[in-house]
Amino acid sequence: MTNTQSSILNYRGRFAPSPSGPLHFGSLVAAIGSYLDAKYNNGQWLVRMEDLDPPRTVQGASRDILMSLEKLGMEWDEEVFFQSQRNQAYQLALSNLDQKGILYPCTCSRREIADSSIAGISGSIYPGTCRNKLSHVDRPAALRLRTNHHTIAFKDALRGLVCQQLEHDIGDFVLRRADNVYAYQLAVVVDDAQQNITHVVRGTDLLDSTPRQIYLQRLLGYTTPSYMHLPVVTNAQGEKLSKQTHAAPIDPSNALSQMVAALEFLGQNPPKELADDNLATFWQWAIKNWRIDKIPTTQE
Ligand code: GLU
Ligand code: ZN
Repeated sequence: MTNTQSSILNYRGRFAPSPSGPLHFGSLVAAIGSYLDAKYNNGQWLVRMEDLDPPRTVQGASRDILMSLEKLGMEWDEEVFFQSQRNQAYQLALSNLDQKGILYPCTCSRREIADSSIAGISGSIYPGTCRNKLSHVDRPAALRLRTNHHTIAFKDALRGLVCQQLEHDIGDFVLRRADNVYAYQLAVVVDDAQQNITHVVRGTDLLDSTPRQIYLQRLLGYTTPSYMHLPVVTNAQGEKLSKQTHAAPIDPSNALSQMVAALEFLGQNPPKELADDNLATFWQWAIKNWRIDKIPTTQE
């Protein structure tokens, strides 16, 4: 082993972009962060396309992202998972939860929920309106998971202890929408378990989702991976870079300088010359010098 920090046995990490557009600087940071943490620990790095939501999935974006990763020298170790092809696995998990009697159909409209609930850390807190409705459901219904008042706590590798009381902070959440699309929270948990992911490294915009995912892991009898939530890149208006905020795609003609900028964003202090070198030198330096204690956690 060449690294000074001891390596984690059988590390399996992943990058799970939603293919709503090409790779941009924000997703590049998440890709590089998850890749470096995996490779520093002599681990495997997998890629999963989170193309669950048809209206948000852009034709050709998955291919585009994969080609960019390849061009930048980020090789994935196993076949790419496409969530659009995994409905059967999600349905199985859903039936498993249903057998425990903890799911219920919800026919509330967006407007009804907005009117009757209070704003929480992650959208409005669903007040449980449909929890005990016995009447026959005669229109398309979402399926919600019953939450409880127990505290879910986990230790984030960068942010320390995070605690949430799901019922109070989030409310019963949707696992399958009324249009039959499975929710991100369910799919990500099923897939992280299926792919034996041991370390989840992703943007801090998902920090609030992690307790929901741990709750689901416990209900489904899965092990909980380690979590590290990286700072997210924002634009001048303070919005997260994304397709919706019109983030510019990574320009292949000066990819190296954007990769060095991503390392800088992650606090790794790369030498300036790295941008004039080649991909091999870049990765060699970046893997060898990956230090999570240098990643900034305060600028959000
Ligand atoms: N697909 C999610 C996104 O692009 C990331 C999911 C995850 O890493 O858990 O924001
Ligand atoms: Zn409802």
